[in-house]
Amino acid sequence: MQRDPECLFCRIVSGEIPCEKVYEDADILAFADIHPQAPVHVLIIPKEHIPTVADAAADKTLLLGRLIQIANSIAKEQELIFGYRLVINCRKDAGQEVFHLHVHLLGGRKFAWPPG
Ligand code: 5GP
Ligand code: ZN
Repeated sequence: MQRDPECLFCRIVSGEIPCEKVYEDADILAFADIHPQAPVHVLIIPKEHIPTVADAAADKTLLLGRLIQIANSIAKEQELIFGYRLVINCRKDAGQEVFHLHVHLLGGRKFAWPPG
């Protein structure tokens, strides 16, 4: 599996940097965001180092789908019955800060639209 020793989220995957784990399987890790923007703010990431969603080739289709399925099941566990938001920031203009693909699961409050 591809890893980047300089990448913050690869270092979380390897256990070098601790996280508050929410879910883990062979391919995917989910953990609490360190600066939560909502009462529930979980990051769902592939263990493999994929810098942005734009770098996910066609052979990653199943992996991309599973990130969303896992976000859905965490939302259910967290009882986000009134709704939640899934966000993938891609590159600079979207505000991506960590260049290791991640889905934000945000819930527990109302969100505005359009986003800022
Ligand atoms: P982005 O802006 O790249 O879409 O989101 C990166 C997210 O990673 C931010 O919400 C930020 O709070 C979170 N983050 C940054 N560093 C850490 C860390 O060391 N641990 C955890 N759990 N989250 C982090
Ligand atoms: Zn990485």
